[in-house]
Amino acid sequence: MRAELTVAVLRETAPGERRVALVPEGVRALTDAGARVLVENAAGELAHHPDSSYTEAGAEVVPRETALAQAGILLVLHCPLPTGLRKGQVLIGLLAGADLPALAERGVTAIGLEGLPRKLSRAQSMDALSSQDNVAGYKAVLVAAQVYPRYLPMLITAAGTAPPARVLVLGVGVAGLQAIGTARRLGAVVTAYDIRPETAEEVRSLGASFLELATAIAGSGQGGYARALTAEEEQAQRHELDAHIARHDIVITTARVPGRKPPLLVTEQAVKAMVSGSVVVDLAAGPLGGNVELSEPGVTRVTENGVTVIGAEGLAATVPSAASAAYSRNLLALLRHLLHEGEPRIDLTDEIQAGVVRTHDGRETGA
Ligand code: NAD
Repeated sequence: MRAELTVAVLRETAPGERRVALVPEGVRALTDAGARVLVENAAGELAHHPDSSYTEAGAEVVPRETALAQAGILLVLHCPLPTGLRKGQVLIGLLAGADLPALAERGVTAIGLEGLPRKLSRAQSMDALSSQDNVAGYKAVLVAAQVYPRYLPMLITAAGTAPPARVLVLGVGVAGLQAIGTARRLGAVVTAYDIRPETAEEVRSLGASFLELATAIAGSGQGGYARALTAEEEQAQRHELDAHIARHDIVITTARVPGRKPPLLVTEQAVKAMVSGSVVVDLAAGPLGGNVELSEPGVTRVTENGVTVIGAEGLAATVPSAASAAYSRNLLALLRHLLHEGEPRIDLTDEIQAGVVRTHDGRETGA
């Protein structure tokens, strides 16, 4: 890496955000490779990385304007993105919701980690969606355990035996698998369901049961993701799921279909049939809706029949040190791929770059 490469890390500005894009360990790797690293004041403070830890790792801690003005590469987590970027700068982060035409017009090269070809084995170390979903899936179980009025494990004590909690995980992607693993580690009896049949084996390998519905739905779509179901399929699925939901103490939903509204899996009627004290955590809750009829992003409500419904939002940000460490490693892996002799070399014929480079040379790439 040539000495003139300047990489800047900015403080995130989204409400409730506590993560930072690059942790001191990542700074050390870049400075060791000859880069200059600028870190905005207090960028890592909420992730428990004070400015002094960045300085010790070889970074310069500077005001935001200096970082913005001098950076060749800017590292961020997500929107809102910094304003005032200039031609030739490379911006790397999760770019959902970014104004790509404006970035293209400014001549910024915008690189969005969400476009990574995730099935490609050499891209896996760069997979920020997975690293952050892993954190969210883990935390979803803890959030549920926090309000659940009983134990998760079976406990045998002199005062009697407490049965284990029955946990149902709907949607077994990255977050769902981590939720299953976490609930199992806490001793719960876990059942999981997904419309991609290939998930059954993964579920069983984690010591959970796979829920087979009588309505067989072959839900695998493009690129390893689920396909959107027809209205009839959704209806049949919900109809069958209702009875299973009522038999569980904790339901964690994570089902998503890329680019679509999340499927509705837990109706108000299903929640009404749950026993008092049950908990539902909707990890898919977002601006487009969620998997749970009663959930709202960022809102926890208790229904009349005593069920706590949590519209989980931004859970990865609530485990900021672990989530930042993982994201930082994702960025470093991507930087190693992009940099040649200390310069980012944009090559849209490269499979990874074709997925992540969203604007370059004044144009949107269409990725
Ligand atoms: P996601 O967030 O898009 O969706 C979460 C889960 O919801 C998926 O498993 C999906 O099948 C499920 N789902 C969608 N509609 C549903 C419905 N109506 N009912 C029940 N479940 C439903 O998924 P993700 O976590 O981003 O992962 C998507 C895929 O990418 C998975 O196959 C995952 O294994 C794969 N992946 C692979 C790699 C890799 O190869 N290294 C890395 C990351 C992800």
